[in-house]
Formats: sequence, structure tokens, C-alpha cells
Amino acid sequence: MPASPPRFTVEHSYQTLPDRLYSACQPTAVTAPEWLAFNESLADELMLPTPLRATEQGLWLFSGNKLANWCQPVAQAYAGHQFANYVPRLGDGRALLLAEVISSNGQRFDLQLKGAGPTPYSRGGDGRSPMGPVIREYLISEAMYALGVPTTRALAAVSTGDVVYREQAQPGAILTRVAKSHIRIGTFQYVAGLNDPVLLRKFADYVIARHYPQCNTVPQPYLALLEAVITAQAATVAHWMSLGFIHGVMNTDNMTISGETIDYGPCAFMEAYHKKTVFSAIDRQGRYAYGNQPAIALWNLTRLAETLLPLLDSEQVKAIERATTALETFSATYQLHYRQKMAAKLGITHPSAADEQLISDLLQLLEQQQVDFTLFFRELSQHNPANAVKLFGDIDSWQHWLTRWQERITAQSVSPLQRVTFMQQVNPALIPRNHLVQRAITQATEQGDLSLFNQLQHAWQQPFVSKPEQLMLTQPATAAERVCRTFCGT
Ligand code: AMP
Ligand code: MG
Repeated sequence: MPASPPRFTVEHSYQTLPDRLYSACQPTAVTAPEWLAFNESLADELMLPTPLRATEQGLWLFSGNKLANWCQPVAQAYAGHQFANYVPRLGDGRALLLAEVISSNGQRFDLQLKGAGPTPYSRGGDGRSPMGPVIREYLISEAMYALGVPTTRALAAVSTGDVVYREQAQPGAILTRVAKSHIRIGTFQYVAGLNDPVLLRKFADYVIARHYPQCNTVPQPYLALLEAVITAQAATVAHWMSLGFIHGVMNTDNMTISGETIDYGPCAFMEAYHKKTVFSAIDRQGRYAYGNQPAIALWNLTRLAETLLPLLDSEQVKAIERATTALETFSATYQLHYRQKMAAKLGITHPSAADEQLISDLLQLLEQQQVDFTLFFRELSQHNPANAVKLFGDIDSWQHWLTRWQERITAQSVSPLQRVTFMQQVNPALIPRNHLVQRAITQATEQGDLSLFNQLQHAWQQPFVSKPEQLMLTQPATAAERVCRTFCGT
């Protein structure tokens, strides 16, 4: 008999956990939902039935007005350090997990509505989302996916027809987010805060089974879990750094256990290279500046390790020793990933520690001369990399570095054509430049014009391909266009 075709499969494994970890909660109806975007290719992966796609029925589902009978909506509980201050109870204040869907390749994904109305965790918030942040998250999370970065994704965006009040009245919207799970470091913090060792072990077992089943095959599964999260996060953050991505709110509740990038609030891509770059209006001290991200990831992972201590050894001293040893690997793992990514950007196929100097000297040069990070690497990926000279003011120091780089490149047995192909696969021509994201948001929210939003969604699906007609999208903002501040907008 032929194997039956894979079909849409829904489960609710999170609800097998004790109900102290979530609250059943229905979405609150909205007035007049309308489509902003629907992601057909992601719907294909999830094998979502055709009637639930960009249809009337789909609109009811993704606005929360009429859920499908396979939805069992819950708001998940979590805690978290927000700008280093511990908040013991945060939770989904405006998000609802509808179901877990098993994709065509067997991967489990959460389907979550974000902005679907108040939940028991709303703490006075309205549970809603303005349209601007929904468009931002849709655009940037999908662009990050196309760039190859582990990330949550966007399946649908709908406007609600209702007004949400922030600093000003804004149109409301709801995003449907897809993630390997929404389990965060903050979720472990919440569980640890309940002071129930049996529950903690049960939860860790659930997470291992869901995300890191290989940990079950070693003598120290919980230590292996910690190590796996450290490795995943080190790789993700190294990838961010290699693209100039600045998350903006790396609170422990915004860092996943899976290693997926989550919560696209005030995030932004750096233009001119500078380690201290900060966009988020609420990050006044620059805690989450571009160059701080690896250190913050380690700080967050240390909070995760603290929650796992009771599982690492019955003797606290030994448990701390184990956790410390694991955390000490972060730096080397991060450095290895970062070096690989940065060396690839330079067309170096087999990097060694000696290449780190070439990389750091370049970054210093870019910083001194305020060179656009993305544009520089794309120029260097052309057949004539010397053309990158136009991006530099001080030509001598550029020439000096170029000569060193050319010597390094010629020492490998890679043809010029191979080098160009290799480099163009890792140095994007297109990134979600802040002024473009902002313009798409303004046009959509103020004029109801989705054309730029649609154009950007489309263009950013292929960030490594440069098309002559997309030249405008590759250029940094002019002084008049530059966006210096971004907002959570929650
Ligand atoms: P975020 O800044 O999006 O990571 O959110 C931090 C916390 O605030 C989470 O617990 C959110 O669920 C909650 N939150 C954010 N916006 C709202 C809102 N409009 N209504 C209720 N809770 C919210
Ligand atoms: Mg969050």
C-alpha cells in the first residue's frame, strides 16, 4: 500500500504539563478583521488546509474571531529579567498558543496569536498590538528566516478594525507567529520560582523530549540540556553579529530554549559599523547594544543555569561547579561560530585563529570610517572588490587592509569565480533596512497602502540575490531618511 499522504496534524503537548504553567483563555473578538498578509509557503510546510488560508474562514481564525475546533488556546506563564530586574510573573499578556502543528518534515511548531486580547497575564495591558509592530515582526522575522538565522516565523497578519491606544491612537492588528516552541529562559525561571523539584524535573524532561532528545542518551541529561541551549544560543547570536542584527530587548523572557530569535520589538539592523550601536528608545544605558549581545546572551544563560541547579547535582557545590564549567564553554563556542561566519564573509573557506586579526582590523577600519556594514561586505563580494574603495574616506588604510586580505585569499585554492559565488551566498545584498521598514509601516498605518509592505516581503525572501531594479533597497538611508530610534510599540 502506498504511504498515506502527510496531512495537517495538530497536538497539544504543552497541556499535558501541570496547569500551573498556563491558563486557558479565549481570544477577544475584534470588530472588522482584514488581511494584511498571509504566508503561503509556510502554510504549505504546516500543511494547513486550504479553507483556512487566505480565505474568509482563515480571516476568522487568524483574527481570533472564530477559532477552529482543533484550537485549545492557552496563555503561557513565564517570568523574566527585564533589563536585569527580575519579574517573577510575566507570561503571555497578549498572546495565545492555539495549537502545535506537526509540519511536513515532522517538526513540531507552535501556532500563536499575538495581539488577541487580554489574558490572565496582561497586568493591566490591553492584550492588543498596534499594526506597526505587527508589520515589523512580519517583515523582519521572515527576512531573518531567509537570511538563514534561526527564528520564529510569521504565518499571518490581520488588521482588527479596532483602535489601540499607545502614545497615540493606532490601528490594531494580530500576528500569527510560528515557533519551534515559545519556551523561554523566563519559562524555566517561572518553573524554578514555584519551588517544586518534581515539577522542575518534569518540565525539563518535556523540554528535552521536545527540543533536545539526544540529551536523554547521556548520563547527565540536564547538564546536556544546558550545554545544548548554550550551543544553540551561541550560534544564533554569532549569526546576528555577522549580519549586524541588533535584537534590542534581550530580556530573559525574550530568549528561547530552542535558539530561535524571538520577539521582534525594537530590533534593527546596524548600518554604519559601530559596536555601541543602539536603536531601542527604552535602552537608555545601551545594555543591549550591538557589541554587548554575546555577553548578554551569556548573562541570560547563567540565569538559565541557576534554574537547573537542583537537577545538576544533589550537592549544590557540585551543581554549581557543573553549571560553571558548561557556561565557560560559551565564549569559545561563540568565538568559533563568529569566526566561521566572519571568515566566510571574507571568502575564507578554512579559517584559523590567525584570521581573527584580519577580521578585527577590518572592523576597526569600518568603525573608524563609519562604513555601512552590509554594503561593504557585498561590495567585497564583487568580481572587483577594490571598488569598495568608494566607501572609505581614508584610502591608505583601506588599501593596506585590502592587500593583506588579497594575500590571504590568493593563498587558498579557490578560483576568483568560486570566491565571488561563495561570498555572495553569505553577504546579503538586502537586509531589512530600518528606513524601509519604517516607510512600509507609515504607508500601511497612515494611508492603508500595503504596496511597499508587499514589495519588501517579496524582495527580502531572496536577500542574497541582487537585481538591478532593487538597487534602491540595497542602499543605506540618506541623512534625511535615517531612523535612529526604534520602539517596542507594545
Ligand atoms: P515584550 O516587551 O513584548 O517582550 O513583553 C513583555 C511582557 O509584557 C510580556 O509578558 C508581554 O506579554 C507583556 N505585554 C506586552 N504588551 C502587552 C499588552 N499590550 N498587553 C498586555 N501585556 C503585554
Ligand atoms: Mg517578550
